[in-house]
Amino acid sequence: MKSCADCVMLEQRLFDASQCYVGLILQQGRMIRAGNPEVSKHGELVREARSSRDFAAQDLLAHRREHDQLPSPAKASATM
Ligand SMILES: [Zn+2]
Repeated sequence: MKSCADCVMLEQRLFDASQCYVGLILQQGRMIRAGNPEVSKHGELVREARSSRDFAAQDLLAHRREHDQLPSPAKASATM
């Protein structure tokens, strides 16, 4: 399978979004241990980061599927 500029861009976006999500999770753990009352507000950020990571992953998969158009469309359209 070939990669194009969009693949690289989407992979980078997914990587950045994952890093951001993981960073927020770690920060949340520290806040819980410290008994920081801001932790509930922080939970919102974690949820947002998780959904943007999920969107980035979906975009990358959808893009990859375009590259990789399977010969049998019946199989490909059955997913999701
Ligand atoms: Zn591509």
